[in-house]
Amino acid sequence: MFQHDIDAINAIREGVRGLCQNFDAAYWRQVDEVKGFPDDFVTALTEAGWLAAMIPEEFGGSGLGLSEASVILEEVNRCGGNSGTVHGQMYNMFTLLRHGSDEQKRQFLPKIAAGELRLQSMGVTEPTTGTDTTKIKTTAVRKGDKYVINGQKVWISRIQHSDLMILLARTTPLAEVTRKSEGMSIFLVDLEHAMANGMTVQPIANMVNHETNELFFDNLEIPAECLIGEEGKGFRYILDGLNAERTLIAAECIGDGRWFIDKASSYAREREVFGRPIGKNQGVQFPIAQAHIDVEAADLMRWRACHEYDNGLNAGASANMAKYLAAEASWKAANVCLQTHGGFGFACEYDVERKFRETRLYQVAPISTNLILSYVAEHLLELPRSF
Ligand SMILES: Cc1cc2nc3c(=O)[nH]c(=O)nc-3n(C[C@H](O)[C@H](O)[C@H](O)COP(=O)(O)OP(=O)(O)OC[C@H]3O[C@@H](n4cnc5c(N)ncnc54)[C@H](O)[C@@H]3O)c2cc1C
Repeated sequence: MFQHDIDAINAIREGVRGLCQNFDAAYWRQVDEVKGFPDDFVTALTEAGWLAAMIPEEFGGSGLGLSEASVILEEVNRCGGNSGTVHGQMYNMFTLLRHGSDEQKRQFLPKIAAGELRLQSMGVTEPTTGTDTTKIKTTAVRKGDKYVINGQKVWISRIQHSDLMILLARTTPLAEVTRKSEGMSIFLVDLEHAMANGMTVQPIANMVNHETNELFFDNLEIPAECLIGEEGKGFRYILDGLNAERTLIAAECIGDGRWFIDKASSYAREREVFGRPIGKNQGVQFPIAQAHIDVEAADLMRWRACHEYDNGLNAGASANMAKYLAAEASWKAANVCLQTHGGFGFACEYDVERKFRETRLYQVAPISTNLILSYVAEHLLELPRSF
């Protein structure tokens, strides 16, 4: 049903797996233990060109689509790594590619492709408005050839490991727009300049090893050329990017799910209790088999979303459903894997508890499961709006 060059996809899988062999379970365990950042891994992935997969060839990238990008992130997770450390660059790229001006593309893409600049951050969420994005309070006010930014963001990932951030802010007050989704704009912010000129960064300690921060903007002035696309249309651009993000996260969850199932199956084959492998018991086998079925089914929806996105079709429904199904499936697989390992599932050296925490995130971020259900109910099934 979906047209993909299987040989090319398999070559990407093998290439990423080869690279991931140099970053084994012990590497990721150690990074997690010290709440560090996998700098060596990110450098290797960048140097091998994987993070520039979607940048057009004329700007120094490989010109690949969302399908191929999704396989790269899936394989990182399937090999036991955490693509949450790098995935921002993949989906933020879409925003720049689709809505950035020629000048912005010429200025930034070659440097991002070469690894000289990192575009790993996107600032949308705010502490007082949460999922109700159209109510954001961060403002960008035009003053001559500058915009002045004031406000606050929360949970913004990888700020300390990025050079650029895509920022969503209100350019027209909510009270003055006819539709609440209008009047917001996106900007490409130079983080080093921002930190020296009115943006303060406060790290947030959290359950996973995911670098997140609270940001405070106090009269930060940025050049007007930082605006991406048209003023006032930023929310639409962000939504467009979010469909890519949801599809990529779905692929990461598929990678996690497959890692959990491999790990659970191999432990169930080897662990002997009552004089036989625990995997001989159907009470142990069946949950693993069910989790496998769920992951494979979610994978089909992921490919549908990739296909639609890469062919310029509206991928909104598929991207949301893929993210929902894959996040559910990987979480189910995580639970099954932990249960199969018994007490050893809690031991850090088995890596199950780390991956368990990592995959749990995707029920909440980048969009919570409830909000996907709400989207499907209202937009696909035409049920009455609840908010
Ligand atoms: C590790 C991590 C990294 C993140 N990285 C980024 C980032 O880089 N950039 C960024 O902008 N954001 C980021 N986020 C924020 C993330 O996108 C939000 O946490 C997420 O969208 C949920 O928003 P919230 O936390 O404000 O929850 P809230 O909006 O406060 O919602 C709380 C709960 O209530 C439910 N809920 C709310 N309203 C309704 C309703 N009407 N009907 C049913 N249920 C409802 C939600 O589903 C959720 O479960 C990150 C979050 C985490 C934890």
